[in-house]
Amino acid sequence: MNRNVQEDLKQLDSILKQHGLSRRDALKIMGLGGAGVMVGGTTEASAATTLKASDAKGKILIIGGGLSGVATAAKLSNSLSNPDITIIEPNPKSVSYQPGNTLIGAGIWTKDDVTYETKDFLPSGVKWIQDKAVEFNPTANEVKTAKGEVVKYDFLVIAAGLVNDFGMIKGLEEVGEVYTSSADDAVKAKKILGQNGICSVYFTEGAVDTWTQMQKFVADAKSGKKVTGVFAEPHTPFKCGGAQKKITNLVDARLNEAGARANANLEFLTNGKKLFGVPEYHTAIEGQMKARNVNVRYEHKFTEVDLVNKIAKFEKHWEVKGAWDEDLEEFTMETKTEAVDVKYDFCHVIAPSKAPNEIAKSPLGSEKGWVPVNIQTMQHVTFPNVFALGDIAAVPLGKTGGSARKQYAVLCANLISLMEGKEMTAKYEGYTVCPLITSIGTVMLAEFKWKDVAAGTGAVAAPSFPLDPTQERWIYWLLKVYLLKPMTMYGMLPGRA
Ligand SMILES: Cc1cc2nc3c(=O)[nH]c(=O)nc-3n(C[C@H](O)[C@H](O)[C@H](O)COP(=O)(O)OP(=O)(O)OC[C@H]3O[C@@H](n4cnc5c(N)ncnc54)[C@H](O)[C@@H]3O)c2cc1C
Repeated sequence: MNRNVQEDLKQLDSILKQHGLSRRDALKIMGLGGAGVMVGGTTEASAATTLKASDAKGKILIIGGGLSGVATAAKLSNSLSNPDITIIEPNPKSVSYQPGNTLIGAGIWTKDDVTYETKDFLPSGVKWIQDKAVEFNPTANEVKTAKGEVVKYDFLVIAAGLVNDFGMIKGLEEVGEVYTSSADDAVKAKKILGQNGICSVYFTEGAVDTWTQMQKFVADAKSGKKVTGVFAEPHTPFKCGGAQKKITNLVDARLNEAGARANANLEFLTNGKKLFGVPEYHTAIEGQMKARNVNVRYEHKFTEVDLVNKIAKFEKHWEVKGAWDEDLEEFTMETKTEAVDVKYDFCHVIAPSKAPNEIAKSPLGSEKGWVPVNIQTMQHVTFPNVFALGDIAAVPLGKTGGSARKQYAVLCANLISLMEGKEMTAKYEGYTVCPLITSIGTVMLAEFKWKDVAAGTGAVAAPSFPLDPTQERWIYWLLKVYLLKPMTMYGMLPGRA
């Protein structure tokens, strides 16, 4: 793991040197002067241990050993004098750096850049049950695993991520549900995705195949064929809201590189009315799409794929003024729909997402499946000794690694307060971040948070750096490609940042 990340940092240093910059200078330009770990500080995860702060006791059970689960285990291990922590995670391979999938999909990284062993991240002393949690009995404080083990807890943290439900798109039923980290699901998905122009970077094997499909698409365009690429956003919340835009921009970049852009029509379709919740980011992205000659269509729900004839099918929807409502004294609004077919040569799919069924349908889930928490404290709304974070938590705008990075610190502080019998004071404010790749070499760093923090509604820009966040910048490309992974591996996963 260290060798892999050290290699990234070495490459970064050599690029910076060509531009007369040191790593320290680059971090200062990015406003990351405090990221000491990246400027020659220790790189040993084991050195993360901080002063043992709390003597609070209790058996803590964490469901899911991905990004949020491991970071939470590490921070709690660092902060308790006598930690008693168990993680239930079925997969031997870690999916802790999924942002890398986008880079794999465009041939910038390879699978090796994001392939890690789960065991390499588990803090020492944390017990690992390599199994799947399948039954939850929060009144008895018990969880049952697929192999039948019953695990008792005093405090439970749910960090099980989300499931990509490709089966919600007609034509992709055979792909069905794909857990991001499941090797078996990847084998099943690869029978359809990654063939004949249809692909998805939402699992690592799928990202590898996306690059193969992208190269074929570019080669076809270069040979003089007129081709169409379709990029559709799902109608459910999904992780990394910028992912489809990044893939669109990367395809555009690869076509330009090959001198073949003129032969390709790129279609971006979204179910929503906007490209981004923050108005200035929406305007900036709309401008970027226009400059790249990408055709954007709003209010198009992706419903079906005809794999044989290579047609992506959508339900276009819009509202019209209906009858006058005497009681409300206003016009009712009626939804109109129309079927829209788009023939494709390349189609990148992001599946509709949901919480894993075993949790969504348990007493800890909700009608929509996501685990309902107090969005500021991360505590379950019904069971006070249960917390949730990351993709599975019912937190608006919360499905990114960037939001998990803020949430896990809040959750750990509040869980320790609860264990100590004190008031919970740490609060999550809805921060999230999307390093939006706009070309090979530029990124727009869209950071934002809730407008109304108490209600968790709206979205406003929340730049950490003293630079206009709507601008595409080379320096943020370096951050995205070379620094965010080491920051995750050495900062977040050891529970330090
Ligand atoms: C293509 C792509 C690009 C992205 N780009 C960015 C980006 O640029 N910036 C950013 O901040 N974020 C990005 N993200 C999002 C980010 O990766 C996720 O938000 C983050 O990984 C969520 O962490 P998590 O711990 O909630 O879930 P995960 O890291 O997915 O971990 C969940 C874990 O729970 C386990 N699990 C599931 N069910 C069970 C069960 N029943 N029992 C036990 N264990 C279970 C799974 O095996 C898995 O290991 C991207 C994601 C993708 C797919």
